[in-house]
Amino acid sequence: MITIQQQWDQVQRQIREACRRSDRDPQDVNIIAVTKYVDQERTREALDTGLVHIGESRAQEAVPKWEALGDRGVWHFIGRLQRNKVRQVAGRFQYLHSLDRFSLAEEVNKRAGEAETPMHCFIQVNVSGEANKQGVVPQELPEFAREIVQLPFIRVVGLMTMAPLTEKPEETRPVFRELKSLQARLRSLDDLRLDMPHLSMGMSRDYSIAVEEGATFLRLGSVLVGRQD
Ligand SMILES: *Cc1c(COP(=O)(O)O)cnc(C)c1O
Repeated sequence: MITIQQQWDQVQRQIREACRRSDRDPQDVNIIAVTKYVDQERTREALDTGLVHIGESRAQEAVPKWEALGDRGVWHFIGRLQRNKVRQVAGRFQYLHSLDRFSLAEEVNKRAGEAETPMHCFIQVNVSGEANKQGVVPQELPEFAREIVQLPFIRVVGLMTMAPLTEKPEETRPVFRELKSLQARLRSLDDLRLDMPHLSMGMSRDYSIAVEEGATFLRLGSVLVGRQD
């Protein structure tokens, strides 16, 4: 496999170009290395290369990797999370990107409380409205956000979305733009707890567009660490 350093250099070039086009500072764009398609050795290579943020989406495979490498990075749980798996994630992962229902928020709050470690959460939003997609629908977002910011062990840091799978990356742009405008709407509600700084959006196929539209966390798997499956 091509080294992660080579892939990372290429990704950073693309990010710098997207930032130049959109008048942004590349320092504001964080990269999460999504290691769900690769083994522990390749995950270690990502950390050795200097990547800090690691993203995983299945608790069963993520926990053994965390046991081996957890003290070395900042760990993000990015996939759908079942309530009965929250206990494995709380206290290990610092970030959860898929908070999309109150019952899950309550369980995260409870387990994070037991671990005495607040969970940094992104609210996942189903911007495109596809029936098979996870996420809060935009109309319900303000009310949902107001409810969960009251939970003491949940820190809402931003919004997350997944763009539709499409052959034409340009078609993802309106989805990213809408997520940013939803963030602006929450920030205008005059509640400091809703003043969330981050947007988790952009994957291997569409991250340049996500950067142009304001992403602060990119979730990059295939393009950065590759796939072994
Ligand atoms: C797998 C996954 C990614 C990364 O996918 P790539 O297209 O390989 O970059 C990002 N976000 C989520 C939620 C994922 O499940």
